[in-house]
Amino acid sequence: MVFWGAAMTFIATPILTYFFGKRWYCSWVCGCGGLAETLGDPFRQLSDKSLRAWKFERYSVHLVLVFVVITTALLWIDSATKGAVLGSVSSTFKSVYGFAIGATFAGVIGVGFYPIFGSRVWCRFGCPMAAVLGIIQKYFSRFRITVNGDQCISCGNCSTYCEMGIDVKSYAQRGQNIIRASCVGCGVCSAVCPRGVLKLENGPTGGRYNLN
Ligand code: SF4
Ligand code: SF4
Repeated sequence: MVFWGAAMTFIATPILTYFFGKRWYCSWVCGCGGLAETLGDPFRQLSDKSLRAWKFERYSVHLVLVFVVITTALLWIDSATKGAVLGSVSSTFKSVYGFAIGATFAGVIGVGFYPIFGSRVWCRFGCPMAAVLGIIQKYFSRFRITVNGDQCISCGNCSTYCEMGIDVKSYAQRGQNIIRASCVGCGVCSAVCPRGVLKLENGPTGGRYNLN
């Protein structure tokens, strides 16, 4: 388990994310993502597209990541020392994480509130795996959505149906490739565009950020 865990974490995940962005996990593998794309699909347009939500997302998803890293480290220390150093501290962290994050945030809010907040609340605001993949996607991946900006008629379909609350239209209007940590590569923005403006690509990294 330790070998496969380390291999997946330090070899497979960075390589797959380099080539495909976080879509290889968030859209092709993850069970939460699968639920969002099926049960949650009728509510995908409800995602909050505001700047305030984007700012909140950047804090919340990384705070959960820090929380789970600390909890894991404490559990390892506790296991190695048989509880001699930390006592019950690590199990307290584990219980708080399990109830507040695992059950309440990911379960009750993340799934139960699809009809209020949209289909990817947990993926966007809380998932620590998505946070790690998002960092790799933004800075080290070949994945991006290219934009043929001249063709955009500003209909707004792409922004409306982006489940991650990305204002895709604003990128299209500027002719700017979309490289966002939160994009799960679902491809719906491209599918609903009536003018064929958007294309999901994972070619060589040169010019990822360039305006067309
Ligand atoms: S592929 Fe498009 S619709 Fe899907 S998350 Fe990324 S920007 Fe949003
Ligand atoms: S759906 Fe296509 S045409 Fe409409 S705003 Fe988005 S990029 Fe522009």
